[in-house]
Amino acid sequence: ATMPPLLAAIANAGRHGVLVKSAVVMEQLGATTQVAIDKTGTLTRGTPHLAAIKVLEDAPFTRDEVLVIAASAEHPSEHPLAAAVVSAARTAGLALLPVQAFTATAGLGVTATVDGRQVQIGAPAAFLIGSANRDQAARSAIAELQETGATAVVVLVDGDPVAVLGIVDQLRAEAAAAVKQLTQLTGKPPVLLTGDNAATAGEVASAVGITDIHAELLPDGKVAAVRDLQAAGERVTVVGDGINDAPALAAAQAGIAMGRAGSDLTLQTADAVVVRDDLTTIPAVIALSRRARRVVT
Ligand code: ADP
Ligand code: MG
Repeated sequence: ATMPPLLAAIANAGRHGVLVKSAVVMEQLGATTQVAIDKTGTLTRGTPHLAAIKVLEDAPFTRDEVLVIAASAEHPSEHPLAAAVVSAARTAGLALLPVQAFTATAGLGVTATVDGRQVQIGAPAAFLIGSANRDQAARSAIAELQETGATAVVVLVDGDPVAVLGIVDQLRAEAAAAVKQLTQLTGKPPVLLTGDNAATAGEVASAVGITDIHAELLPDGKVAAVRDLQAAGERVTVVGDGINDAPALAAAQAGIAMGRAGSDLTLQTADAVVVRDDLTTIPAVIALSRRARRVVT
């Protein structure tokens, strides 16, 4: 028997490096009218490095002490930002301290007890609540780092901000080409859904040709953005890599996970997984689906 067109398309997608989990998904992909895409680990490589440590004035720690505390607290996290902090400490030859009571909150950051002190690291909007005396200094350090396109995360010890870290991730080499192809396929650029701040998101968006930016979103905020697009009549395909993207992948008509850096939960939730680490496989698979659909109908 000849293979049904959608199954042939799945096999073809596999050759392109995308694992499409069912014929229904293969068909849905071709109906995409709007792509919504994550930033960190999706448009960017997801292998960021720690580019700056700004210890706040009067903070009772040296640069190395801040790095040890931050890396220790981040060590249990699977987030790419955490990996950047840990590898900076390793490169500096610093030994990590034991950690207790680690918790990670998707889209926000981590908390842990390091050496008896309560450490919080993450998004300025979440952790810089304005009561501590070093908040103003932290805000200027954050603004300075964000102007350079870095993701700024704040480090608090026992509730007081002590330092701001600047973490930089490179754009994927193929990101602009993939965005251009997706724009041609759907007639409009993808929208950016990110947990990062608007300044850093804007840098990345303008470099790849995206104009619609939704920043500082928690996982639920990504879902709400998808539902808004759906309510406006769009058939949405979401592309993401993180645990913070999983609910949005589930809410979309089609959810695609980036396989290399993707978290386990995200790979399971996704309808399709990019196995060859290349964003241009996504427009390729949407085009394959459209061709198969034309044969079917
Ligand atoms: P994106 O949507 O761009 O992939 P995330 O939702 O994963 O980003 O993270 C959003 C923000 O939450 C980050 O920019 C950072 O400020 C903060 N954050 C999340 N996890 C961590 C972590 N492990 N360490 C430090 N900051 C974190
Ligand atoms: Mg991400």
